[in-house]
Amino acid sequence: MAGTGEQVSFEELYRELILDHYKAPRNRGALAGADYAVELFNPLCGDQITVAVKLEGDTIADCRFDGHGCAISQASASMMTERMKGRGRAEALAAIGRFKAAMRGEVPFGELAGELGDAVALEGVRKFPVRIKCATLAWNSLEQALQGRSGKAEVTGEES
Ligand code: ZN
Repeated sequence: MAGTGEQVSFEELYRELILDHYKAPRNRGALAGADYAVELFNPLCGDQITVAVKLEGDTIADCRFDGHGCAISQASASMMTERMKGRGRAEALAAIGRFKAAMRGEVPFGELAGELGDAVALEGVRKFPVRIKCATLAWNSLEQALQGRSGKAEVTGEES
């Protein structure tokens, strides 16, 4: 609001990115021929996300999500799917682990920019601990799918 008027702060830029993914989600919808699909529910906020993956050998041939919930949960899912196609299973699992570590404050987001793409915009969510589960929901879904699980689960307050 205040200031020079020309400069866009990082927080504004991040908010724009989150809204952009929320309003125009990438890779949203059913995935025909998915090998694994995991639906997770975040009771703290009411977010529901299903992430489906199609593998070719050990490579993610396609990754899509579906669901509903707050802007953070949906934008995070969109940002995640954008970075996952073409990655190997182990590489994707490592990226998920680093994203979750960054959300816990264990790794600086700045170090992960190349790996996480737009998802680094979720750094600001760390200031609101109850919303961290919104941001990690899709990543947890994909993690379970890549571990060969399918089905539904509820994310409790314990795990993140
Ligand atoms: Zn949420």
